[in-house]
Amino acid sequence: MPSTSTQPLAALLDWYREMGVDEAIAERPVDMTALAPSAARPVAAPSGTSPMPAPETATRPRGRPAAALLAGAGETGADARNLASAATDLAALKAALEAFDGCSLKHTATNLVFADGNPNADVMLVGEAPGAEEDRQGLPFVGASGRLLDRMLACIGLDRTGVYITNILPWRPPGNRQPNAAEIAACLPFAERHVALVHPRLLILAGGTSAKTILGTNEGITRLHGRWTDHTIPGMTAPIPTIAIYHPAYLLRQPAAKRDAWRDLLAIRTRLDAMTG
Ligand code: URA
Repeated sequence: MPSTSTQPLAALLDWYREMGVDEAIAERPVDMTALAPSAARPVAAPSGTSPMPAPETATRPRGRPAAALLAGAGETGADARNLASAATDLAALKAALEAFDGCSLKHTATNLVFADGNPNADVMLVGEAPGAEEDRQGLPFVGASGRLLDRMLACIGLDRTGVYITNILPWRPPGNRQPNAAEIAACLPFAERHVALVHPRLLILAGGTSAKTILGTNEGITRLHGRWTDHTIPGMTAPIPTIAIYHPAYLLRQPAAKRDAWRDLLAIRTRLDAMTG
């Protein structure tokens, strides 16, 4: 039992965790309120306007190289696409991601979460991004939503020997926040190359971020789910039958949507049966 004097600290840590503050991204905290205003440098302003004060220059947190803090600045979408398309198999794609410095999420994540399941399966599922448990284990969909995903797949006779699973982002956004557009753009060439290398016969996009990103649309998941598209991934010559489904994490929060999710899963089963005769 913790002593009474440690209880407030434990409660504070619990509160941080609930608020999504569950990763240490530097060895020491930086007190941003204690930085001297004199450290601020004026930024050149267009003529006729007053100079804007620059954001105060914070001491670089120890343990994070400058390259990590500036991740993205030197890497372009073209770099990502070149690196991804040079990978001729999954091992090379994983190595290319490990070497890629164009997405700053890499520097706050514990592990690269590349994939799980059977790379020779007919079915490939692409989720959004790893959560805390996935980040710890280096495997996709192994936390609470992964457990629900396994049950959903089992309902239609599938498991990880018959499905290959990955995410749009291979690194966890701190605190499970939504990935931003730059992070998604940096990782998309790798996700698309991943699909092209696996060459599944059927593609499932789990959740709005995955569906919108891969299909290149702004439509929301409530409209996209359950709709089949023949989608051509860049670098592939033939389209893949593709369907979006509700993300299991959404179903955990909104059990009423399970009815639609069940219908979408049955549509996948029917399509698979028609393919495999
Ligand atoms: N949610 C996802 O989209 N992917 C995971 O791997 C885990 C949770």
